[in-house]
Amino acid sequence: MDIRIGRKNSHKTFFFNCSNCSGSYTHTLPGFIEEELPKLVDLEPKRLKNSFRRGNLKFYDSKGINAIQFRKKVGEIESGTMVCFGDEIEIIRGFPKIRRTLMLSPTLRQHFNHEVAVEEKMNGYNVRVALVNGKIIAFTRGGYICPYTTRKVPQIMDLTDFFREHPQIVICGEMVGTENPYVTHHYPEIGSIGFRIFDLREKTSNRAMKVTERRNLLEKYDLPSVKLFGIYSVDEVPSRVENIVKDLDKTDREGVVMKDPQMHLSPLKYTSSRAHAEELEYAFSYPFDFGRQFFFSRVIREGFQAYETGESGEELKRRAQRIGESILYPMLATIKRVSKDDVAGEDLTIYVDSYDEAAEFVRHLRDLGVVATVYDFKDGKAVIRRIHQSTTDKINNYLRGGLY
Ligand code: ATP
Ligand code: MG
Repeated sequence: MDIRIGRKNSHKTFFFNCSNCSGSYTHTLPGFIEEELPKLVDLEPKRLKNSFRRGNLKFYDSKGINAIQFRKKVGEIESGTMVCFGDEIEIIRGFPKIRRTLMLSPTLRQHFNHEVAVEEKMNGYNVRVALVNGKIIAFTRGGYICPYTTRKVPQIMDLTDFFREHPQIVICGEMVGTENPYVTHHYPEIGSIGFRIFDLREKTSNRAMKVTERRNLLEKYDLPSVKLFGIYSVDEVPSRVENIVKDLDKTDREGVVMKDPQMHLSPLKYTSSRAHAEELEYAFSYPFDFGRQFFFSRVIREGFQAYETGESGEELKRRAQRIGESILYPMLATIKRVSKDDVAGEDLTIYVDSYDEAAEFVRHLRDLGVVATVYDFKDGKAVIRRIHQSTTDKINNYLRGGLY
């Protein structure tokens, strides 16, 4: 079972001995993409070749893992999918996109069959944890191996027993808390860092385990699940969700994900007004680093939620005020900051064992196109400064008289 990947010096050609082929067969990477990969992921060779040519499939090499990374969705194969070469080929499929509903009624009744499991949607970042070539590896949404997350996950929870008995399962969960380099959110029950699992999926097929089966299995291994509010009939689910989300709003929590208990239908998400306001606030702190669709989408959600809850008077006015404030105040604060010769940036804190670990994380961020530096490091506490370059440059330009 030996796959060795090498890079022939001159050109970007990779070759390896593939144990999936009868006998020991040496592929070049293009050969693998044309011959073996189509069978593994059930896609036309031509389609894969074109995707590779367009840069939608890339060769990936990090943390001792060689893989083919799907940067974009190709057919049924999700973006973020990693075809990893180790002693055998292991396919960690991308986490599927979760569609959003703007209205609870009639959408939920139309989308689901009999019952709906309502789980809390945690606000952090998506992580897939899998055993790859015998090592526990944490992938972020795009399929990148995050060095920080890969180190933290086994410190947060003991996965040895689980993976010994279920090496074919990919654990999908949300990394949450304030000590978080991607999405910082305070949860009283979590504090600085924690992990909540919302899916167990099979390698290669990406088949998701049924809700109850998943929760029971996690309990058996003492692994942390997201909260389940309940499993409701489709008739009662809209009013249940409306109330749940109202409460979540009050306690500064994001929202819910609604799932078919059998996991045959795709889940749907629905979020609180407070979450929309917080996202607007963050995005309008760095307005030129976000696409316009980002802002539009949050405002649209508020329009439909205000309609469906039927609110009026003071309640509606509070919603309107909150949206307005979350747009204007942060933007003004950033303009003021840049006007004082500062940059539009933010500091993220992570706890690491050495300066090198912090530097490795910054290199990982740069691979993702994020401008960042290790700003400070002392006693294991690393402050990473992330700079929002477009916002800084554009604001500077307008302040100096540039035209919009
Ligand atoms: P998407 O590509 O699915 O639209 P997004 O980047 O816009 O994702 P979100 O709006 O946060 O992200 O919604 C989907 C994400 O919610 C999932 O990718 C997952 O990381 C996260 N999540 C949190 N809690 C749950 C849960 N209980 N079930 C499923 N996903 C959850
Ligand atoms: Mg999220």
